[in-house]
Amino acid sequence: MSFDSLGLGPGLVRAVADQGYDTPTPIQARAIPAILQGRDLLAAAQTGTGKTAAFTLPMLHRLMQRPAAGKKGAVRALVLVPTRELAAQVEESVRVYGQHISGLRTVLVFGGVSINPQISALRKGADIVVATPGRLLDHVGQRTVDLSQVEFLVLDEADRMLDMGFIRDIRKVIQLLPAQRQNLLFSATFSPDIRKLAEGLLQQPETIDIAPRNSAADSVEQRAIFVEKAEKAQLLGYIISRFNWRQVLVFTRTKHGANRLTERLIKDGIGAAALHGNKSQGARTRALAQFKSGEIRALVATDIAARGLDIDQLPHVVNFELPAVPEDYVHRIGRTGRAGERGEAIALVCREEYPQWRAIEKLLKRSIQAYEVEGFTPARIEAPAQAPANGRAQPNASERSDGAARPRKRSRGRKRSASSPGAATAPAQRPGRGRAPSAGRGARPSR
Ligand code: AMP
Repeated sequence: MSFDSLGLGPGLVRAVADQGYDTPTPIQARAIPAILQGRDLLAAAQTGTGKTAAFTLPMLHRLMQRPAAGKKGAVRALVLVPTRELAAQVEESVRVYGQHISGLRTVLVFGGVSINPQISALRKGADIVVATPGRLLDHVGQRTVDLSQVEFLVLDEADRMLDMGFIRDIRKVIQLLPAQRQNLLFSATFSPDIRKLAEGLLQQPETIDIAPRNSAADSVEQRAIFVEKAEKAQLLGYIISRFNWRQVLVFTRTKHGANRLTERLIKDGIGAAALHGNKSQGARTRALAQFKSGEIRALVATDIAARGLDIDQLPHVVNFELPAVPEDYVHRIGRTGRAGERGEAIALVCREEYPQWRAIEKLLKRSIQAYEVEGFTPARIEAPAQAPANGRAQPNASERSDGAARPRKRSRGRKRSASSPGAATAPAQRPGRGRAPSAGRGARPSR
């Protein structure tokens, strides 16, 4: 299937070709024709599936096709998103996909920055507004935005907007919109709350469930490394240096934790920056730009700040701390392995996190290969009982062709450097299960 066959105008097909896309992704193949027909849409799709283009392309097509019916300067399409970063990304997509069509203005509206430039931009007229709900309502309060002519409402990452407590704001915004409009709701999962929201909002929607619920993309190779809590920061620095990772997105649970880890990595000589809600918008934008350009190697983020981040060909994601909600693990690792690329996700799991780790595996309905890194072996995880006398890790591990597995002797104080022969990882015994899993392929973090 080609983009030509979906019914999009030539300017949009050209923009997509400029991006190097030759085939629509599954969500695009299903959503674009439905939206072009004027249908409402309920789509379960994770980031990385091409969902932004799935709603932006047909939305632009329809806006171009039909001249504005209402007041001049009134908003015709409203895209609500949970975070500033996602707002900026969606606006960028609208710009990129709309580069060969003219006459549509897009305005970005989000908090944490001065409202005045947004007021000036809205005054000049905005066909499309990409907004976070809180700041949009500030504009409504100041009467600097007119939502009475909205033809399209898109709720992107609706599940996260609900998690972030935006439901009341969303309902307030919906009240301000005309009854006659097209509604598109995108969510990573269909939770009962999302279904409730959808029932009140959508009329006979086309329902698309692209990613099986809570499944992680096959393109992401997942691993766990068992380690003591106090050694996680040192281990992370070691892995980044040893395997010469150039770009890794690291998740912590708290803003404070993100700051601390960033400082530690910088001290270890690894260029890093923190991305979280306490940082100014300027600092967040700068950190993201430095990370995307390769100026820094590690971006240390909290869940909310990282939600929806789209970083081209991001090779590595590290769960430095496991998320409180197992579903967030899926969102986190979804930052890598996108758009057909391979990615690697490593979770650093300490003893205190075993229950969370089990909950994640239960959600994924699979167990994930776990390893230990020599020199960082956690004290209470014993070597597998069947470790052979020849000192090798365990039969199936040591049979690996790359010889990566090593005996898991605790060798504290040994020099750890990029050339250290002890750099390898070895399969770990799973917590509380009393058996060692077989070694999968690629037992060490990849380059
Ligand atoms: P999204 O799920 O919207 O965040 O998109 C994830 C990534 O997929 C973005 O970097 C897009 O540029 C890319 N992408 C979107 N559609 C396609 C396509 N049809 N072919 C290849 N890449 C795509």
